[in-house]
Amino acid sequence: MTDKQILCPWCMQIKIISEKGICSKCYNHLDSLEQKNWHNYQTSNYAELMALAIKIDTAFQFAEKSSDSESVLKQFHQSRIRCVLEMFKQLNNTTFKPITSEELEQYKHLIKEYSEQIRTDEELNQFSIVLRQKLSTNNPQLQNIYTTFFSFWCGEEILDWSYFQYFEIITGNLKFLIPIEKLIEIMQKHFPVISSNPIKQLN
Ligand SMILES: [Zn+2]
Repeated sequence: MTDKQILCPWCMQIKIISEKGICSKCYNHLDSLEQKNWHNYQTSNYAELMALAIKIDTAFQFAEKSSDSESVLKQFHQSRIRCVLEMFKQLNNTTFKPITSEELEQYKHLIKEYSEQIRTDEELNQFSIVLRQKLSTNNPQLQNIYTTFFSFWCGEEILDWSYFQYFEIITGNLKFLIPIEKLIEIMQKHFPVISSNPIKQLN
């Protein structure tokens, strides 16, 4: 338990304990299903991160509806991949043994170039299959991390989840090895405008 104070990510006006993730006023405006979800986030010490994930998701849904959506969505695509790539860079290279450090660097560089649309997904996919075949583990947590590591960069057209589910799954796998505070810091860095503004209300 910590008593770190943050501004409520919803309204950005009221100070709250970070573990609550949302102020009482904003919480009371949520429907009962959303309130139930919040209760789960709070009890699993996940509320601040999920607040941010929901804000990113909402901003993305807004962008999908905007008139110049193509360039905005391209920006989201790039930020999403770079954000998760930086999360994976926190892991020690030995997590992916016997893949060598050089191969890992090459793979991460390919992902960066793919996010910039310099490389095709086919080039990246081929290399990722070669690396994936080198790994084997009976540890379910590591299995999930490997699966995520070789798929998180997928294009929007094959992304089966909302942005909120995407971040929930990825950080849910990574939180065993990376402190939640660090994951939040990386999300804030890659989505600075969304992080520092009140949530956009979808109506
Ligand atoms: Zn609030």
